[in-house]
Amino acid sequence: AKQAQRELVKCSNDKEKQGSFDFIPTKQDLQYAIENKQLILYYQPQINMKTGCVHGAEVLVRWLHPEFGLIFPDKFIALAEQTGLIEQLSEEVIHLAIMQSVYWQKRNKATRLSINISAQNITSLKLPEQLRMLVKEYEIDPSMIVLELTESALMDSEVTSLDIFTRFRLKGFQLSIDDFGTGYSSLSQLHKIPFTELKIDQSFVTNMKQEKESAAIVETCIMLAHKLNMEVVAEGIEDKATWDLLSSEDCDIAQGYYIARPMPAEQFDKWQFKG
Ligand code: C2E
Ligand code: CA
Ligand code: CA
Ligand code: CA
Repeated sequence: AKQAQRELVKCSNDKEKQGSFDFIPTKQDLQYAIENKQLILYYQPQINMKTGCVHGAEVLVRWLHPEFGLIFPDKFIALAEQTGLIEQLSEEVIHLAIMQSVYWQKRNKATRLSINISAQNITSLKLPEQLRMLVKEYEIDPSMIVLELTESALMDSEVTSLDIFTRFRLKGFQLSIDDFGTGYSSLSQLHKIPFTELKIDQSFVTNMKQEKESAAIVETCIMLAHKLNMEVVAEGIEDKATWDLLSSEDCDIAQGYYIARPMPAEQFDKWQFKG
């Protein structure tokens, strides 16, 4: 049944991806979408490689367009960042994610959620303040929320952003450095912020099976993260061979199509608790 469900998620994702092929949204389209609740969240499981248990889920935004169907973030995140809509978009994503978290918490299904945030989101105190109020209002343990920031976003950041990121950590949120290995940030940059997690970029994970260089980079990232007291997530795991390699190299957390595709909350529920 689990396999069948995996296939189902796979098929619907692929079909929907084709559906949005020709649509090039404008700022007005996206603004309308945010204001009219067309953004929805998908959840991709993360597995603890040592125990096999569900560790949490990454929150991935999608745009459910009434005409063009399911639209993927590669079609609109950059637009949001260029037009200043990213603040509104991230507010909506955080709001939806926290509401889902409350729903799961009430049913004793508390799930750790990793939320992607953009560099612009940490140039002011608005987003930290929103998060702080929400976790307080809904009595959510902030350590159940992971904020993912890409390594390249970190490089562009000014001192104020680093400061804001540190504040998140002090409030108890977890911090993850995403797409690690692609941003050429120096190691001195890395230890300025108290990251709790390092996500190895999926390009290295995808290639590690057939490419010695990628395998070496993955291995080095795992060692580095552990030396700095961070947990390591490998994303983009698409087959058993890659899982086995990572497992033998002491990787902590696994994410990828081999385990499950991103899926709507109800489906994640079924996958996690009945599968
Ligand atoms: P990311 O943060 O690196 O997220 C991982 C992407 O890899 C996701 O694509 C996920 O569906 C995909 N993926 C997961 N497992 C596999 C696998 O085994 N193989 C392959 N080939 N791909 C896999 P998605 O959902 O299309 O998101 C793309 C990017 O859009 C994300 O990359 C992230 O940078 C951005 N994004 C997504 N949601 C949000 C959001 O709410 N806010 C912001 N600011 N950015 C977001
Ligand atoms: Ca991410
Ligand atoms: Ca990533
Ligand atoms: Ca990425």
